[in-house]
Amino acid sequence: MSDFFFESYLRKYSADGTLDCGCGRQHSLGAKRVLLGDGVLEGLPDLAAQMYGSGSSFWILSDENTETAAAARCKELLSRFHLSEVVLPARPRPRTTPELIQALAADAGGVSPDLILGVGGGTISDIGKMVSKIVGVPNWCVATAPSVDAYSSGTSALKLKGGHRTEACTPTEVIFAELAVLEQAPEKLFLSGIGDLLAKYLSYLDWSLSALITGEYICGEAAQLCLDSARQAIQAVKAQTADRKAAIRSLTDAILTSGFAMQGLTDSRPASSAEHTVAHFWEIAAAVGDPAFELHGLLVGLSCRILLEGYSEFYRDPAALEFAVDERLLALAAEPPWEQTLVPEMEPFRGQMKEEMSESVIDAEIYRLRLERIQNNVGSITELARRLLEELEGAVSILSSLSFPFRLSDFRIDPQQMLMPIRYIRFLRNRYRTFNLMHEVGLEKKILRHLEEQLSLLR
Ligand SMILES: [Zn+2]
Ligand SMILES: [Zn+2]
Repeated sequence: MSDFFFESYLRKYSADGTLDCGCGRQHSLGAKRVLLGDGVLEGLPDLAAQMYGSGSSFWILSDENTETAAAARCKELLSRFHLSEVVLPARPRPRTTPELIQALAADAGGVSPDLILGVGGGTISDIGKMVSKIVGVPNWCVATAPSVDAYSSGTSALKLKGGHRTEACTPTEVIFAELAVLEQAPEKLFLSGIGDLLAKYLSYLDWSLSALITGEYICGEAAQLCLDSARQAIQAVKAQTADRKAAIRSLTDAILTSGFAMQGLTDSRPASSAEHTVAHFWEIAAAVGDPAFELHGLLVGLSCRILLEGYSEFYRDPAALEFAVDERLLALAAEPPWEQTLVPEMEPFRGQMKEEMSESVIDAEIYRLRLERIQNNVGSITELARRLLEELEGAVSILSSLSFPFRLSDFRIDPQQMLMPIRYIRFLRNRYRTFNLMHEVGLEKKILRHLEEQLSLLR
């Protein structure tokens, strides 16, 4: 028996990678194995020979940092196979652009490998999974940092000029999470992994909220699993000064679990909500003045800290959520279309917003239904929110004690740029979340003003 969350989740799937879940849907996984522990990397050549034959050929992708961290060792271990490789420069940091992916796929395709092996963090993992899809051969990964949930997810996060796109990729078949390697990862990457976990509290809240108000499908099991694995990791991190290795183990377990839940459901709902939309916006808008802090999980952590302020203010008083349905329907009908409210700074995002909003048709009947459901569930919604936000606040203070960068000045993000995606959050992603609830009950502007007033605290 093992005590990893991801293993208990994988065990539910049958040998062909499917699960008839209690949520009523069938989930499926392309992943076959995860090796997390001490010394697991040494098993790489034997497993490769066993699954692909001793004469097989590998195309190995790394960057200058991950080459030292693990890729050089992988190549040594795999020396009896046919190897070709690309080592990307460390600076500027590689980005998951379609151009880079195409160029690498051409390189890999040229040598017709049996397997793609990515050695690195989130970016290398995301690129490896896309190259694997384009070339049409499986991929494995050696994780070098517990920094993101990309390793086990079924999508790659692509960086485009006018936005961010999540694209289906070939999921990684075998993941090596060697503790000796992960422990050597820079502190910022460790913090980035934990920052990404903060999203689980808001995701759980917003997904449950949407299920209740809009009737959106929810997989209760996946949602709970992601939340629980994050909780355990945060507790382990709290005790990390005593046991660093246990903290890394638990954190890696949590990020793998969250990736698998997303892969199984082909949906990022269990692990990402408004905080991810905000963090992606900052990345795309080049809002981060200090490139050393431009790490996914650090940005997610910062945006969780900011959104916590807004969510807490909103859910603080259930009485404030009282409204008259007909009055709200009139007010909602009188609002100008979002296209007319765009400020010039948001122009580059118009296309993305248009695409998101094209799927969202909300007429008066839908609004009425939602408003009635809100009225009938105010008690349970605010109670759930109160519990989760309290936990998130606790997690934020644990991270603060580890010097997690929670201030805008750490990132050199301009306060106005910080607020921009929050102001337009409902249009940047077509997903029902707390900001939709705020809007429907008529409190969104009040909460935005509150956040503006709090800026001095976040600077
Ligand atoms: Zn994330
Ligand atoms: Zn399910």
